[in-house]
Amino acid sequence: MTVADQEEIKTHQVPERLLSSSLPTPHVVSLDAYRKLWKESVEDPDKFFGDRAREMLTWSKPFQTVRHGSLEEGDVAWFLEGELNACYNAVDRHALKTPNKVAIIHEGDEPDQVRKITYGELLREVSKVANVLKNLGVRKGDNIVVYMPMIPETLVALLACARVGAVHSVVFAGFSAESLRDRVVDSSARIILTSDEGRRGGKNIATKRIVDDALRDHQTHVEHVVVYQRTGTPVPWVQDRDVWWHEETAKVRSFCPPEPMNAEDPLFLLYTSGSTGTPKGIQHSTGGYMLGAMLTLKYVFDYHENDVYACMADVGWITGHTYLTYGPLLNGATTVVFESTPTYPNPSRFWDLIQKHKITQFYTAPTAIRALRRLGDQWLEGYDLSSLRVIGSVGEPINPEAWDWYNEKVGKNQCAVVDTYWQTETGSIIVSPLPGATPTKPGSATLPFFGIKPIILDPTSGKELNQVDETGVLAIAQPWPSMARTVYNNHHRFLETYLKPYPGYYFTGDGASLDKDGYIWIRGRVDDVINVSGHRLSTAEIESALVHHEAVAEAAVIGGHDDLTGQCIHAFVSLKPHVDTADGLDKELTLQVRKIIGPFASPKRIYVVQDHPKTRSGKIMRRILRKIVNGEQDQLGDISTLADPSVVAVLIEKVHGPQ
Ligand code: ATP
Ligand code: MG
Repeated sequence: MTVADQEEIKTHQVPERLLSSSLPTPHVVSLDAYRKLWKESVEDPDKFFGDRAREMLTWSKPFQTVRHGSLEEGDVAWFLEGELNACYNAVDRHALKTPNKVAIIHEGDEPDQVRKITYGELLREVSKVANVLKNLGVRKGDNIVVYMPMIPETLVALLACARVGAVHSVVFAGFSAESLRDRVVDSSARIILTSDEGRRGGKNIATKRIVDDALRDHQTHVEHVVVYQRTGTPVPWVQDRDVWWHEETAKVRSFCPPEPMNAEDPLFLLYTSGSTGTPKGIQHSTGGYMLGAMLTLKYVFDYHENDVYACMADVGWITGHTYLTYGPLLNGATTVVFESTPTYPNPSRFWDLIQKHKITQFYTAPTAIRALRRLGDQWLEGYDLSSLRVIGSVGEPINPEAWDWYNEKVGKNQCAVVDTYWQTETGSIIVSPLPGATPTKPGSATLPFFGIKPIILDPTSGKELNQVDETGVLAIAQPWPSMARTVYNNHHRFLETYLKPYPGYYFTGDGASLDKDGYIWIRGRVDDVINVSGHRLSTAEIESALVHHEAVAEAAVIGGHDDLTGQCIHAFVSLKPHVDTADGLDKELTLQVRKIIGPFASPKRIYVVQDHPKTRSGKIMRRILRKIVNGEQDQLGDISTLADPSVVAVLIEKVHGPQ
């Protein structure tokens, strides 16, 4: 039994507007056309991806072998023998053809701070920084840590690394000195790129000071810190180690030849969000990753030449790599870099941004959608959002309530809503609707992208589950170009985490089911699945039932120990601002869950909370709630990726009373 059966989740057809002649014709215009392409892509990946890699990317040396290796062996490789440069593909080829096209629109922290950078300018900036890196002794294969705010220079930094063949490792610039140090040490980086300060929501952030703290009194390999001047506030200086970006770039030529890289050379390292435990340093390849980024941006966002594309993710997360930087730039698009927050100076900021820049594709996360929905519809009033064609969501399951709000209030029922499922490890989107082709169902990420063969396995036996709506673990049955190649310096962990649990498959760690139309419903993390009296319940399902209630803004459920039933459900809900009393809410919410899912899913306890424990990328860390409920609050594990560690004490008090 699922929410889908019980509630007759509505299927939304592709909005007619998207197929009308006044808008660019979508790349894929029917479900049949999608199915045909998908079939080709999984049955003959050599042809499908080989053709596209030749067509869409510029190689300095052609590849001979499209696919090599297997999931069993963990030696997957794509486009062997081929050589290319990611920066050349993302910048030079567009700068040569359309030097005056805007590559980056920077919307600064204050709404009136807008900066536009053309492909021609971008090529010169990137080349200068690449030359600076070379002068500092950077060689092909070196790791470079980037700890920078949401400014165009951060994209310049990534591209400059790629240009000289260095491997960038971006650390989200909201992480503490300790978290930064761990990542610097792990990657043995000799260079860090940073800024004097960052700006966010009207506040200055002491970026450089955090770098200093991370390096103080610790043995690292860091020889130089390159500092971009963002605010001009004086910052402490370490002689011989620190250099100014503007001083060094003034000394060098604005041309630097791109380094030819093997398709399998690493392009970057990136740590996962840390929702489930210690973050993993995921390593991506050059050729396969680029093809994945380029193809998914084109098809999932239905990108066309004159679009203005905006992804709200921070460059510190995989979404900021694939859909803010590489995907758009490889396609020659105009990409928006947003420095501020959704609520600064007020909760109309996103809508103002869309109206101002006539944005055609907008991509954000459920946490932002839920937060804005919670603040009320008045913030959208009067904004012209008619430039939008595609609105996307990523990061967590989006509950149907939030999906509907996004579709109606932001998309005005006239846009494709793409709930995109993927991971740091998958490199690019692996499950999503295609705007002109796929009818959508709120809460389902729908159908696999090209080359992705999803399969639902029984978690214990590892056998394929064929029953409609039966929840199992989501696995992928064959390699795809942009999949991660390893965990940095720890291939053993890579194999153990992703390839060994179900031999022959890539294991996602997420629970999922297929409905009668073959649509994929992501049910949340496998580790979070709750087992009550033999019923396997997914967190996403119960949370959706709770958020269905008028008063609830956000919900998180976890399993507590129960002598009788094995596990029992504890729910943590936050309320919308206009709700002034939680009286009687317990009963109403319990009834709601019973009605939508069934009596066995009734929560044993419901706690009304102000905040959930969230990662810095905005995802709920259910593990923390589970430990608190089960009296293991002294063994919370790695909480360094928590956005606000002070919520932990509040939650402990909520559950166990004053300590
Ligand atoms: P860690 O692996 O360190 O615990 P993380 O899994 O949060 O952190 P990411 O790679 O940023 O790190 O996130 C990928 C995960 O996010 C997916 O495995 C899935 O659980 C969740 N996710 C992403 N997009 C969606 C989506 N559209 N629907 C449901 N879940 C999603
Ligand atoms: Mg993960």
